[in-house]
Amino acid sequence: MSEFCDVALPVPLDLVFTYAVPEGMQPVVGGRVLVPFRQQRMSGIVTALHDNQPTVKTKNVISVLDPAPVLDEQLIQLGQWIAGYYLAPVGEVFRTMLPLGAEFKRTIGYRITEQGHMTLHLAGMSGSSARSQKTPEDQFAEMRVLDYLAEREMTREESLRAATRASKALLAGMVRKKWIVREDLSDAQEATRTVRFAILRSSEGKLNSNQQTLVDTLAAAGGKVAVESLQSLEVPRTTLGTLVKRGFVEIVEEAAEFTASGLKARPSLFDSQFSPAQQAALKSIQQSVNARRFCGTLLHGITGSGKTAIYLSAMRAVLEAGRSALLLVPEIGLTPAVAADLHQLFGEGVAILHSGLSDKERAQQWHRIKRGHARMVVGTRSAVFAPVSDLALVIVDEEQDPSYKQEEMPRYHARDVAVMRAKMANAAVVLGSATPSLESYFNAKKGKYKLLEMPDRVEQRPLPEVEIIDMRQEFQETGSEQVISRKLAEEIKERLERKEQVMVLLNRRGYSPVVLCRTCGKKLECKNCAIAMSHHKRSPRMECHYCGYTAPVPKACVYCGSEYVYFLGTGSEKLEELLHGMFPQARIGRLDRDTVRGREDFERALNALDEGELDMLVGTQMIAKGHDVHGVTLVGVVGADMALGFPDFRAAERTFQLLTQVEGRAGRGNTPGKVVLQTYFPDHYAVQYAAQHDFVGFYEKELRFRSWMHYPPYSALANVLVRSGKLDEALRWSGILGKWFETTRHEGIRVLGPAAAPIVRLKRDYRYHFVVKSASREKLNTLLRTMLAYVAQQKIPRTQVIVDVDAVWLM
Ligand SMILES: [Zn+2]
Ligand SMILES: [Zn+2]
Repeated sequence: MSEFCDVALPVPLDLVFTYAVPEGMQPVVGGRVLVPFRQQRMSGIVTALHDNQPTVKTKNVISVLDPAPVLDEQLIQLGQWIAGYYLAPVGEVFRTMLPLGAEFKRTIGYRITEQGHMTLHLAGMSGSSARSQKTPEDQFAEMRVLDYLAEREMTREESLRAATRASKALLAGMVRKKWIVREDLSDAQEATRTVRFAILRSSEGKLNSNQQTLVDTLAAAGGKVAVESLQSLEVPRTTLGTLVKRGFVEIVEEAAEFTASGLKARPSLFDSQFSPAQQAALKSIQQSVNARRFCGTLLHGITGSGKTAIYLSAMRAVLEAGRSALLLVPEIGLTPAVAADLHQLFGEGVAILHSGLSDKERAQQWHRIKRGHARMVVGTRSAVFAPVSDLALVIVDEEQDPSYKQEEMPRYHARDVAVMRAKMANAAVVLGSATPSLESYFNAKKGKYKLLEMPDRVEQRPLPEVEIIDMRQEFQETGSEQVISRKLAEEIKERLERKEQVMVLLNRRGYSPVVLCRTCGKKLECKNCAIAMSHHKRSPRMECHYCGYTAPVPKACVYCGSEYVYFLGTGSEKLEELLHGMFPQARIGRLDRDTVRGREDFERALNALDEGELDMLVGTQMIAKGHDVHGVTLVGVVGADMALGFPDFRAAERTFQLLTQVEGRAGRGNTPGKVVLQTYFPDHYAVQYAAQHDFVGFYEKELRFRSWMHYPPYSALANVLVRSGKLDEALRWSGILGKWFETTRHEGIRVLGPAAAPIVRLKRDYRYHFVVKSASREKLNTLLRTMLAYVAQQKIPRTQVIVDVDAVWLM
């Protein structure tokens, strides 16, 4: 029996805490314990058991939450690696790895009583109540709480306090006065969302035509369809009820994982034969899996070359061997249709983890995986931590996608964590992409990964022809700023006449990106950020795309009162309107964050295009992601090069990737595709190489630039950001760090800064940064660790100094 245990707690401190283990308690390494920390109780992961009496007095463990480890040895090791590599507090890392926070957290909620309503009503009539002894601030706070609750049902404590700034003591006082009630919601409210399914039980018997339609639809969809999707059929609602009564159909409720959406059965991914390139790639991956030691592969397959079918085949082989596989996909990649494919292929053996899950659903999936019920795990970023055993294969699809980078503590990159996890498990890892990141391609070229190339589309379909339109010249020739060039308009018209489909990309949402005053020259800026607010016409409102702050659309300048305010520039909402005006007959859909609330919206728009219900789809980079619509023969790029003007060394790479992806949407069916690429940077190599579909050309040019500038992959890079809501504090702290970097000489390390971050104010914080680079990752990490110690010594709060190792976003 060990006397002490070390516990990693989810606090922003780079250390573990030692507690005494009371007689009879048996904590385990990798399991959770409940401990006192400052004035609270907190759960943390036990990282070690020992008998070394600490020099300071220790408190006792309150209780042991897990009799067996929830994080196995490999995951503990992985967490410690992340903490070291990304300089993140290990307790925060473990919390991110373990989606079980909901299990022991009590959820408190409040609701208003009749008496509370009455109080609020009286206060409204008489101003403030004179009988009270309390300060006016408290009375205001109480009224704010009543006001807030009066319009709502049961409200969670966190939301209530965040909205009204009420203290716990104030709420307790209100409970005593019986104005509000407090309830424990831990069990009540977390009920799983369910979906009703209609299941076909029999089709023998006399049916009228409506009933027949319903039964046929069910049969065609494999006998089971969500009730909701049946409502799109043109049969009366009562028909289903009648069929249930007669025993033809049964209604069941199931937990909503993903509702397999479409009524149309999708053709299996294995219906068509694998091409020789696909077969060779699959064989190579299977050899790596069977070798049972670490092996990395970069699968570079152009858009439309059939990578997904290879992933799923390789995973199926792993499942048949009784082992486990992880497939990571970018945020938007996990649509209901993909989920349906996965269920069809792996049945109950698959767990799907996506950001739409509630805490409770996430915990349920976690337990299914931990128990070994689901050995195939598909999910976004954090699925890399799924507790599978006997891991054989990890696949990262679209490995260059920025959604793999977590932009909050701990700031890890899921692709790189996936590689490390595979290393620790002696497993194979496959990074797949049409446009690999510079880093991954560089690693493959240096022999760290096997490089598998698939340079041809399936069925030898040609890549689209790309025509570059110089928009500066267009301006000179037409005498005004054009959104749609004459050439693009003409090509669209031709396609519409031929009943072919068109996609138009403008990577900026909203109606107008800038509102400018012609009198004082100021742009309307977000009050939290140094960012111009965008005009959204339909909603109508002004919105900051960085922090989400919204404001009314101004009729006059908010700074000088002048009425000469102008709405400038074009976003996807305005583009849609323009195209409606130019092609009134065309059916046009739009895909961006304003029209897509969830994955289902996303899929609905794509289905509509696929089914020929739309002639044209406009949108932001969302339309560029890897989906397969065969009728699109023209892709217009109206704006995708804005990033080239950003002071970010990855801007060219990102632009090249986006252009290549959107080009890949054209000509996936039998008719060859064409791309009209409008740009203000026609000579930029990112634009040129993207137009020539020349990845290697781009890669070599970009590498030369990175090498000159000592940027990744030639050096390890970290962005050190100092932030504060107070400008003088941000300046003082960055000054302190600047002096420290200057006075401590560091061989082989370059430090740029302090400088104002390109976005100097974001979400109310003033931001100054340093870019730190070194050819040696070890030296870089040692320096950053020493710096963090100095930060602590200088009493600069750890949360205000962000260390972003391998930063992908330097803005
Ligand atoms: Zn003004
Ligand atoms: Zn903002």
